[in-house]
Amino acid sequence: MARQKLTAVRGVKDILPEEARRWSEAERVAREIFARYGYGEIRVPAFERTELFSRGIGEGTDIVTKEMYTFEDKGGDSITLRPEATASICRAYVQNSLYAQAGVAKLFCTGPMFRYERPQAGRYRQFHQIDAEALGTDDPALDAEVIFMLMEFLEAVGLSGLSLQLNNIGDAECRPVYAAALLEFLREETAGMGTGGMDESLAERIERNPLRFLDSKDPAHAGIISRAPTIDQFWNERCRRHLDTLCRHLDRGGVHYERNPALVRGLDYYCLTVFEVTSENLGAQNAVCGGGRYDGLVEELGGPPTPAIGFAIGMERLLQLTEKAGAGPGGEPGDQPIEVFIVALGESAEAESLTLASELRGRGLRVDRTFGGGSMKSQMKRADRSGARYVIVLGEDEISGGVVSLREMAESRQESFERAGIGDYLCARLRPSP
Ligand code: ATP
Ligand code: MG
Repeated sequence: MARQKLTAVRGVKDILPEEARRWSEAERVAREIFARYGYGEIRVPAFERTELFSRGIGEGTDIVTKEMYTFEDKGGDSITLRPEATASICRAYVQNSLYAQAGVAKLFCTGPMFRYERPQAGRYRQFHQIDAEALGTDDPALDAEVIFMLMEFLEAVGLSGLSLQLNNIGDAECRPVYAAALLEFLREETAGMGTGGMDESLAERIERNPLRFLDSKDPAHAGIISRAPTIDQFWNERCRRHLDTLCRHLDRGGVHYERNPALVRGLDYYCLTVFEVTSENLGAQNAVCGGGRYDGLVEELGGPPTPAIGFAIGMERLLQLTEKAGAGPGGEPGDQPIEVFIVALGESAEAESLTLASELRGRGLRVDRTFGGGSMKSQMKRADRSGARYVIVLGEDEISGGVVSLREMAESRQESFERAGIGDYLCARLRPSP
């Protein structure tokens, strides 16, 4: 009886070579642009103590209450697969005393994140982010620079039709006043909706953090959200000034944005500046990137007071958009095709083909060969499918004569070459020096 086929876990997916090439290219562009802004790469662990996220992201957030992959390891510690990178980067910043270096610490990281969400297009349980964080100042010029870098990157990979939504969600002084007013409003609204209007967990969530209601994607809540008081009516002088200054910097830099006083983010650590980049081409999961300031997080994690700001780009959604645009990154699919394919007939030719392949690869050429033998015809078919420009044929005659037969596929003509000179010849043809 045939064994049952094993499949990947729901909500995760394989990135096959052709798509992986576009991923690498997007990462390469990010590295290049981020380096110009002074960012260094940091690689943080894929799992951390659960407490890092519950303390950092916030006990009552959707991520912490519903979406984390948490388990007890064999030593009895509670471990969580990272749902995002900011908390880990701040932990690393504190643990490695990166604050001791002068100036702003600029760090970026790429990799998988894990959230137990309902899988759908653009929403996975393992997804990937490009994450950038700048720690060490509350100067709105840093907010502007971070946004410049983000938009430069999104443009460089060929995205268009984007909208940058910008808001200031208040600070420790004015946000609580706003939250209280919003809570009162929402309580009244729920009372007005009658008994069955809201389920208990939603009412509970409103009590715990009324701001989160504004993030609700439920169409039934849209009306209430549109009437709800917004933060801009509650900003203190500092918050108002921070946003105004940031907007002036963005105007001067030619970055388009939309001030959206209803924009909130699903993580508790944000303060002052928050932003989101959405695309009209993404459907329901339309956010490509989210970010904002988190001036209290490093201190919350036991470090010195360190104002900071960062963003995270969702790779799957980014790549979905570049696919739609038919644009970069990555140029042509299969932009690193095999150049030389070796066909070998007979035992000694097969052995020699391994040596020859190594020799040509050592000279920088992309080389493949057949495995498992087969007739000339079947091997040539495989050679043809590989897309290689040159096919080398090795048979017993060639081996004993110290030659190889070389076929240039486009010309379908075959010539005999000295075995010793074939490397030089192919390099001259495939890597002509300018
Ligand atoms: P959303 O509102 O779509 O749930 P979010 O606010 O939870 O997004 P962030 O935590 O800010 O997202 O993460 C930044 C980016 O990571 C998002 O803008 C999105 O592009 C991507 N992202 C977040 N969750 C997922 C997921 N489950 N699958 C794929 N991409 C995701
Ligand atoms: Mg989410």
